[in-house]
Amino acid sequence: MTLVLSGRKYAGVVKASLKNRVSDLQGLPPGLTVIMVGDDPASKVYVAAKEKACKKVGFNSHVIHLPAEISKADILSVIDRLNADCAVHGILVQLPLPDHIPAGLIASAVLPEKDVDGFHPVNVGRLWRGEEGLFPCTPSGIVGLLHHHDIRMSGKKALIVGRSNIVGKPMAALLLRENCTVTVAHSRTADLTGQCRDADILIVAVGKPEMVQRDWVKPGAVVVDVGMNRNSDGKLVGDVAYDDVFAVCSAITPVPGGVGPLTIAFLLENTFKARAKLLAK
Ligand code: NDP
Repeated sequence: MTLVLSGRKYAGVVKASLKNRVSDLQGLPPGLTVIMVGDDPASKVYVAAKEKACKKVGFNSHVIHLPAEISKADILSVIDRLNADCAVHGILVQLPLPDHIPAGLIASAVLPEKDVDGFHPVNVGRLWRGEEGLFPCTPSGIVGLLHHHDIRMSGKKALIVGRSNIVGKPMAALLLRENCTVTVAHSRTADLTGQCRDADILIVAVGKPEMVQRDWVKPGAVVVDVGMNRNSDGKLVGDVAYDDVFAVCSAITPVPGGVGPLTIAFLLENTFKARAKLLAK
């Protein structure tokens, strides 16, 4: 029988555990500050969801709204101030940023110890070197979800479709750390279908509605669908044709309710971890 990997349920477990751990803390609770530049409607929804999740587990949370026309120098000085603020343990700059503010510059400005998105080059390096650090939330959540369901990763062939800095590449590094044999596919990959069919663990992070079909999937494979797309009927769907693939795989994440809820849960985990490390310094 196919196992449904519910990220929603697992995120609930992670958040309940965080709430307990926060109530046991002495001193300041974990503090997350989110910087939002401009008025992107989707970003507003994500930022509000992060704020709500923080409150629920007992974190301090602040949102700094900055105008879309803000200069690079001014946003960098806001980040500097937060880097120096002892009550702020995590800093997240909501993406996308306006075109005149390079995301790479901003990621590098956040103190690595407060970089709860895991985008700072120091944390990227630590991830690939197998060291301790703060790592991107979505792929960390996926590894947590697979562990939670006792899905064996060691020795398995993992294929990640998508090579973004936010999902695909850190996913590859994390699965390598779990001793998977990892392949990363992308838009120039030859015989993508054949590559997918060879995978024991198939992670799809592309952004193309229901691209992965039933005959792309090896019978018994574990399928993780990161995609969040609207199909032609306006329905939220993943990158995997869920109903068809469900019939052949051994486990699969649904959309919605699969990977989506993990991102915020692991943002909270990262903030908790960042606080502990900062206080131990
Ligand atoms: P990006 O657009 O940054 O990257 C997409 C990747 O898919 C690229 O590496 C691209 O290849 C590859 N790709 C595009 N078309 C194809 C194709 N036809 N065949 C094979 N590979 C292809 O996206 P993200 O990684 O940021 O996000 C991917 C999806 O995951 C989106 O739907 C997004 O909404 C969702 N997402 C969900 C999150 C969640 O919390 N659930 C969090 C983050 C993302 P190339 O590099 O060659 O261009």
